[in-house]
Amino acid sequence: MKIGFIGLGNMGGPMAANLAAAGHEVTGFDLAAPMPEGVTKADTAAEAAKGAEVVITMLPNGKILRAVADEIVPAMDKGSLFADCSTVDVESARAVADQAMAAGLLAIDAPVSGGITGAANGTLTFMAGGSEEAFDKVKPLLDIMGQKAVHCGPSGNGQAAKICNNMILGATMIVTCEAFALADKLGLDRQAMFDVVSTSSGYSWTMNAYTPAPGIGATSPADNGYKPGFASELMLKDLRLAMQAAEAADADTPMGEAAMKLYAQFVENEGGEGADFSAMLPRFEKRGRG
Ligand code: NAD
Repeated sequence: MKIGFIGLGNMGGPMAANLAAAGHEVTGFDLAAPMPEGVTKADTAAEAAKGAEVVITMLPNGKILRAVADEIVPAMDKGSLFADCSTVDVESARAVADQAMAAGLLAIDAPVSGGITGAANGTLTFMAGGSEEAFDKVKPLLDIMGQKAVHCGPSGNGQAAKICNNMILGATMIVTCEAFALADKLGLDRQAMFDVVSTSSGYSWTMNAYTPAPGIGATSPADNGYKPGFASELMLKDLRLAMQAAEAADADTPMGEAAMKLYAQFVENEGGEGADFSAMLPRFEKRGRG
């Protein structure tokens, strides 16, 4: 398949390389990043999109996505597919899909989870929003870049699934870290707490599969000096998108809001930027209630 790929950073670079390695003809464009192996360089986004059956974007945010869409939608052939894999606000995802469909294109939002390792290994999970036709067309490509793709409904629903998941993840990580710090102050051994909670009703992905305490439970960024992994500022980005969507939809999300505020404080005032999102544990360890 002839594929245009725009945004070849930490995620897009290895995703495009995997498509090229699988035998697809990939033309790429990025303002700064180098071309991944097997990808032909275009000089503009429109040039990368021209003549492609599928154009994939992997960009930092909704504003940039909208600007790139303005450039590429007019350059794309009718019937071709615009697949955005970035994490952006639901509103931008729906606006860009509407713009593409009005121009006679198919459109899908397909954000990912799995991080840089998942992108490199082709083991991402995609959550997709768009028509059946758009999903069926992009599915073989998602199967190369990832291990699972879930069709979540119409345009924007991929982003909706992503931010709901990450709102749960952020809030759960915080309370898991709080619990370890509380256990320390109560004189409860961390290993004993893990042994109980990981097999009791307090278990969670953050406790069992991404244990934030060094040397306890699953091997995780905590065992590597809290080097990401999933950086705190990326968690903050996703929590802000969740709160933006909650506001637009008039949904009451007090735990998501508390998580967003805590990650904002951690990233912006407490030196948490660049640390894994599980570095909330050393943050709580140092604090009292005041
Ligand atoms: P990144 O900053 O490494 O890559 C973004 C790339 O887009 C950069 O190379 C940049 O030069 C390029 N770019 C910016 N504006 C452009 C434009 N107008 N035209 C062409 N290229 C442009 O970011 P990333 O980590 O690859 O993340 C990409 C997206 O994936 C984000 O939306 C992020 O939230 C999401 N995501 C990231 C992770 C992760 O672990 N890194 C995990 C899941 C989802």
